[in-house]
Amino acid sequence: MAGQDLYRNLFDALYDAVMIHDLDGNILEVNEAALRMYGATREVFRRYTMVEHYSAYPDSEGHLQEYWRRCVEGEPQLFEWRARRAHDGNEFDVEVYLSRVRNGRQNLILAMVRDITERQTMVRELRLFQRVFDNAIEGIAVTDADGTIVSVNPAFTTITGYSAEEAIGQNPRILKSDRHDKTFYREMWDSLITHGQWSGEIWNRRKDGEAYPEWLNITAIGQDVSDPLYYVSVFHDITEMKQKEKQIRYQALHDALTGLPNRVLFQDRLQVSLKRAQREPFEIAVVFFDLDNFKNINDSLGHSAGDMLLQQLAQRLGRVVRSQDTLGRLGGDEFVMMIAAPEVSRVAVDIVDRLLGSLEKPFHIDGQELFVTVSIGLAFYPSDARDAEELVVNADLAMYRAKHQGKNQYEFYSAEMNAPVHERLELEFNLRRAIEREEFSIVLHPKFEVSGRRLTGMEALVRWTRPDGENVPPDRFIPVAEDAGLIDRIDIMVLEQTCEAVRELVACSDGELRVAVNLSSRHLYHPYLVEQVLGVLQRTGFPASNLEVEVTETALMLEIERAAAKLAELASHGIHISVDDFGTGYSSLYYLKKLPVDCVKIDRSFVADLDHNSDDAEIVAGIIAMAQNLQLRVVAEGVETKQQLEYLQRQGCDEVQGYYLSRPLSPPEFERFLLERS
Ligand code: C2E
Ligand code: CA
Ligand code: CA
Repeated sequence: MAGQDLYRNLFDALYDAVMIHDLDGNILEVNEAALRMYGATREVFRRYTMVEHYSAYPDSEGHLQEYWRRCVEGEPQLFEWRARRAHDGNEFDVEVYLSRVRNGRQNLILAMVRDITERQTMVRELRLFQRVFDNAIEGIAVTDADGTIVSVNPAFTTITGYSAEEAIGQNPRILKSDRHDKTFYREMWDSLITHGQWSGEIWNRRKDGEAYPEWLNITAIGQDVSDPLYYVSVFHDITEMKQKEKQIRYQALHDALTGLPNRVLFQDRLQVSLKRAQREPFEIAVVFFDLDNFKNINDSLGHSAGDMLLQQLAQRLGRVVRSQDTLGRLGGDEFVMMIAAPEVSRVAVDIVDRLLGSLEKPFHIDGQELFVTVSIGLAFYPSDARDAEELVVNADLAMYRAKHQGKNQYEFYSAEMNAPVHERLELEFNLRRAIEREEFSIVLHPKFEVSGRRLTGMEALVRWTRPDGENVPPDRFIPVAEDAGLIDRIDIMVLEQTCEAVRELVACSDGELRVAVNLSSRHLYHPYLVEQVLGVLQRTGFPASNLEVEVTETALMLEIERAAAKLAELASHGIHISVDDFGTGYSSLYYLKKLPVDCVKIDRSFVADLDHNSDDAEIVAGIIAMAQNLQLRVVAEGVETKQQLEYLQRQGCDEVQGYYLSRPLSPPEFERFLLERS
């Protein structure tokens, strides 16, 4: 009996479900595990036969019957099946072991049933991993702890050229390139041993011998980082990415047209050389050259011819420079060369002579012979500059002087170039750069009805702020810009900025506001003046009838007939004309009658002296009276005091402008000013 109890207890303690059947399949006994697994009571079990019992579906093909039959004949059966729980109908996977046992005279069938849901899930996951492994674009190689390859995926073969058969059993060393030293691999192993992981860029070799870069990630797998079972390497070929990177780097550092180093690369190399020159007895020359009259070539032959010329020029210059020197293109027709050598001034001059010599033969562009000349400037380190940037700027300045002295020659930088004698030249030089770098902005100076109450319009005034924050007053740079032929670009830029800034405000002002810009005397005679102005109006959508141009009296008198024609053309489009600085020139109102002028501005020098110079007071009164006689509006500018304003009011002046009423305002300030007044 004690033995019976023991077996009963063992029976119930088993992890697997056990059922005892007679040979017809009736269940005689089940253990505790069976009750748990099937969620059924002993009574329920006893009501069913084996087939109904295990199966989630009818055994339509008779497989179960077959297993049963063989078992009854004495052949134990092991198979997988799908079972259903009694209490909730949920299905689960089982493994069944059927065997025949004898109990005294009776033959019984013992079924041991194991729930294999977990195992099945694992199998499914494994299958999924296999799919991923097979289809990954990354190459995957698994090695055992000794570093022998045990498995590779198809991508491994695509990338390395080794088939699975060739790779398995080998050491990954077959892929090793000679691009890395021992330290590299040691560090890789150190990381694998301490962190169980390494990733980085590595050069490997394909079966055909070609070296290629890959991004590789190695992970140790096992219970313990220090004692792994496997290493899994996942990698992808980054050859293409590297090429793109290289290409992008190349493009960022080279000029697309000529393939020469660009400004960034040139500066970089210059910096490196400068460092070297600080340690060794080296000097550095920067040679700056600029084609003479390139603009004419471009204008007359077209841009593609201009491009071809630059390419051929780059080739010729390239043949002259020594391999250790750098030739670069800074943009446009500006080339620069860096020469580093012990006695650089001698070498540099030799090279410059050869450069000039290389240009003596004509260029052939589009079947045309073209002779070109260059202006060259040289500056040296350490004598002429402290750093790379200054060195290039000073060479540029020297080039500029060469150009100024009649082109087709070279000049050395000298410190004098910065002295007052050359101040104007430097200013001109800086002005050119300022235009390119867009260092100009505008302010708006309000104009009022003489009562001082109603705003009638504003005048745009240019402002130049240097990169170091210095403000250069217009009176200083406008004359230089005029001489250098730069004023038309500045005037048009101011017009464009002004139209952009006030377009909205003007649109909201019922068409009342008049916006004035200054036109230089030089610009007035520019052949394309009218086209330029109309072009800006069109681009910005600014109405011509709200625009006024201020032209100085002296400018008009230079060539009165031509001036008259220009002004008439502007006026025909609805643009208003105002005569600036009136009283300082001929002051001939008679001439004004011939011009489509509708306003005169009394020069601020007369207004300034109104209070203590009775002559000026009389002149002002006279101008006002005469102008009104000719139906012209009169604006007094430079009004700084209450007395001046009152005097102008008494004389019947139409409009006033000056610090007493408002300072010139930046566009946002001006907008706020308008808002506050309305
Ligand atoms: P302007 O056309 O006679 O301009 C008036 C000048 O007088 C401005 O100086 C203005 O700020 C100043 N001003 C106005 N009210 C007063 C006042 O109450 N007191 C004093 N002391 N000054 C006053 P800014 O801006 O220095 O311009 C100087 C000159 O530069 C201008 O004289 C004009 O001839 C020229 N200029 C300015 N902007 C441009 C431009 O965009 N193009 C051209 N071509 N010339 C410009
Ligand atoms: Ca003006
Ligand atoms: Ca003026």
